Amino acid sequence: STPASSAKVCIVGGGPAGFYTAQHLVKTRTDVQVDIYERLPVPFGLVRFGVAPDHPEVKNVINTFTQTAQHARCSFHGNVRVGKDVTVEELQEAYHAVVLSYGAEGNRTMGVPGEDLAGVYSAKDFVGWYNGLPRNSELRPDLSCETAVILGQGNVALDVARILLSPVDILKKTDITQHALDALAESSVRRVLIVGRRGPLQVACTIKELREMVNLPGTRPEMEASEFEGIAETLKSLARPRKRLTELLLKAAIETPGEEELERRNRAERAWGFRFLRKPLEVLPSTDLIRAAGIRLAVNRLEGDGEGVRAVATGEVEDVECGLVISSIGYKSLLIDPAVPFDARKAIIPNTMGRVQQTAGLYCSGWVKRGPTGVIATTMNDSFDTARTLLQDIGKGTLDVSTVKPGSQGVSTLLEKRGVKPVSFSDWEKIDSEETRRGEIKGKPREKMLDVGEMLQVARA
Ligand code: FAD
Repeated sequence: STPASSAKVCIVGGGPAGFYTAQHLVKTRTDVQVDIYERLPVPFGLVRFGVAPDHPEVKNVINTFTQTAQHARCSFHGNVRVGKDVTVEELQEAYHAVVLSYGAEGNRTMGVPGEDLAGVYSAKDFVGWYNGLPRNSELRPDLSCETAVILGQGNVALDVARILLSPVDILKKTDITQHALDALAESSVRRVLIVGRRGPLQVACTIKELREMVNLPGTRPEMEASEFEGIAETLKSLARPRKRLTELLLKAAIETPGEEELERRNRAERAWGFRFLRKPLEVLPSTDLIRAAGIRLAVNRLEGDGEGVRAVATGEVEDVECGLVISSIGYKSLLIDPAVPFDARKAIIPNTMGRVQQTAGLYCSGWVKRGPTGVIATTMNDSFDTARTLLQDIGKGTLDVSTVKPGSQGVSTLLEKRGVKPVSFSDWEKIDSEETRRGEIKGKPREKMLDVGEMLQVARA
């Protein structure tokens, strides 16, 4: 039976998980009302602040999210930081259910000496810088060195490598921030080493990202043939996606290229390469002890095989000279409100199929539910799962929606008292048009605003 009053659900976080959860809820039942609360005045989470500027096709999901935001039973409330401007308990008072979809805003640290030296950045901050995340707008990474070392071999590591090495003529047609474009135009970085603790068969990137590296104009691959010994022989036994990835890797690393490719490589002024079986031990300081001048790596060997293969230190070390170190070893969800159960070890909200453990009416989706891995499509599926779980609970009566709840009205009274002024979706559309207008002048899709104050000013104009 359907409840007489509508079920009021609020979602914390306006990234893919938040929008996909909302989409499934409003589409599946006509008596569900959804409010999305987002920390920033602008929506879309990592689609805006993570996805690389030269991957515009990935950002097309924004069209679907916009449709959801414009749905009659869905509202967006930007500029509201849950845990600070309003607590999760207050949201639970105002709504029948609360879905936590606030992503992973922290990052894993390497935990090695020298990590705090100038010239050492997390990929999260570096990506935030070129993508216009307000808190990273002052990063000003020093790109005056020749060699950069990226620690980690996943897609984010490859995004960073590609942005560091891409011809500026390509980047300037994307929505990369102007300050990043200016810095990259002056960059001295000529060589990027992408370091991983395991071997070529364990790289964590996907074939699309690897192919983009292999074909990146003005660059050539520079790998150590010795690291690929025995790899070609294993091809036959590999599952198809890993096989294709490894074939491409081998082609770039050890095959003698044809004449045209050879010529292209000879002309290239920049180089990139994977370095395998290496683990960071220490970032080595410059003589004035202020900035990074190199990195000390432990040399590993592999033990075991298949999925269970482990890297073990051989005791040997290697020093690599470099002025830029970017650690891309993973994002990490944070606890935003002490009232919410949190598994600090796994850095996720403990849940069963999206139901937060031991807390009725509380759900989670996206990276905060699963951990910070997986593409947007993975996030979509798991958000749909959470929405299904929630709707099942309404159906079963374990989620009580029979009482009348104040919803956004209750929350806006609280926010008003606290001097917090939310940004609506139509306010965001003003920011969007202004960014697009500024981009048009420069021949790019948009020029992002970097300052929250400016965003708010434009939203309220
Ligand atoms: P997020 O996208 O992080 O969204 C969480 C939202 O919650 C954010 O908007 C945040 O501001 C908000 N929030 C945080 N704290 C609070 C709070 N206290 N109160 C209110 N709101 C809050 N996937 C692809 O398919 N293709 C790609 O090319 C691709 N590139 C990527 C590049 C990078 C660098 C990264 C990191 C990821 C990339 N991904 C890509 C993966 C994709 O971005 C994720 O799968 C997806 O964004 C996860 O969605 P989410 O909603 O869980 O988290």
